[in-house]
Amino acid sequence: MKPRTRFAPSPTGRLHIGNARTALFNWLFARHTGGDFVLRIEDTDIERSSAVFEASIFEDLKWLGLGWDEGPDTGGKWGPYRQSERLAMYKELADRLVVKGAAYNCYCTKERLEGLKKSQLASGVPPRYDNRCRGIKDSGIPVGVRPAVRFKVPAKDVSFADGVHGEVIFDSKSFGDFVIMGSDGAASYNFAVVADDALMGITDVIRGDDHLSNTPRQILLFESLGFKPPRFSHIPLVLGTDRVPLGKRDISASLRSLREDGYLPEAVLNSVARLGWSPGEGFLGLDEMARLFDIGRLSRSPSVFDPSTLKRYNKMAISALSPEELFGLMGLKADEGLKRALEAVKPNAVTIGELKRLLNPFTDLPVFTPVSTDEARSILSEPYAKEVLKAFLKEAEGAAVLDETNYLNIMNGVKRATNEKGKRLYMPIRAALTGQAEGIELVTVLKLLGRARVIERLKKAGGYK
Ligand code: GLU
Repeated sequence: MKPRTRFAPSPTGRLHIGNARTALFNWLFARHTGGDFVLRIEDTDIERSSAVFEASIFEDLKWLGLGWDEGPDTGGKWGPYRQSERLAMYKELADRLVVKGAAYNCYCTKERLEGLKKSQLASGVPPRYDNRCRGIKDSGIPVGVRPAVRFKVPAKDVSFADGVHGEVIFDSKSFGDFVIMGSDGAASYNFAVVADDALMGITDVIRGDDHLSNTPRQILLFESLGFKPPRFSHIPLVLGTDRVPLGKRDISASLRSLREDGYLPEAVLNSVARLGWSPGEGFLGLDEMARLFDIGRLSRSPSVFDPSTLKRYNKMAISALSPEELFGLMGLKADEGLKRALEAVKPNAVTIGELKRLLNPFTDLPVFTPVSTDEARSILSEPYAKEVLKAFLKEAEGAAVLDETNYLNIMNGVKRATNEKGKRLYMPIRAALTGQAEGIELVTVLKLLGRARVIERLKKAGGYK
């Protein structure tokens, strides 16, 4: 049977690094085994789901290069691929379980269930349903109450061979009969997922550890419905550097914000791939990752998403691109001067945004508004800075060129004339010429700008904003 994996996000927020890892590992598994990768949108929570988030999931996955073989937009023979369009299937399967006596109607009110939970907690037992409606007689059925449907949990040990954790065993006595269809007719998470994975022919479920405790319930449902359960692999969660699991609130780890900050998809993929997997140090393309991928070699403990790893890979990704590609990403047409500047600033740039900022001083193109950072502006407003600039202008006007052959002499001249040194000597010049308080070596700035532009900018210095 052809392997089939799926990525099943809920469109209730933007994808973050943790989601990207789940998507990537499912994608890699499918590609490694010559199988299919299915995208399923789990939008049964109508209040929190939105079309905007669904669109952003598509966009983020495409940006990463993780295309799907079947999904809501592409279709496929196992569709539809949105849970909200599959409600009739859930109802039919739930009815089937009721008819065969594997599930039953439950008329317990919310108040009763809450009371039960409270008293169980008070007496120190883990809360679970007491299976009261299992044996309900016709005479005990209240009129006018719409029942929920509960699964009759068989008393047994449920064991499965997890692809990451190995043999896992749960005693089904640890959970009571659980709801598969709410009294409002909506399928529960566990039931909808089983129905979908079964009906979509999913063979391999790769998902976060947080779903591990759902798996025994799901396996019992598969068995009761007469389907073979898929192989499960639960990957340990991704934590932030604060060691709290990454979640939808971590905006800075969302794929969208990383994209907007100028991170490249290949860098994101390389750092995400290392969250629980160790395919070696080098920069890998998706094909190479797919070739190497082995679920049995994933780590069993949580991994920490360290932004410095992403930065490292992004630098590598930037240095691997040609000037044409980089100018394309920045939306710029290059000329020779800019190309030279690009070579000089490239090693200092972590993101495309930073590259653009570092390149900014070396272009007069209208696409760049000369940025002047607050820090640069405040340096330029100091009286000593004006003295330094005056002396430096005099030196520059007296020189034929500005480069490493006369740089030290010129700076010594300014030093003598102003009695300034260190930061107070260099910063005003850098700020006046680049509008920024940090960047590449000052001598390189002078060389790249050329004497004429240096003089022009020094003259404008006060007004260079
Ligand atoms: N919609 C679920 C989630 O986002 C998917 C769970 C699963 O993969 O079974 O966590």
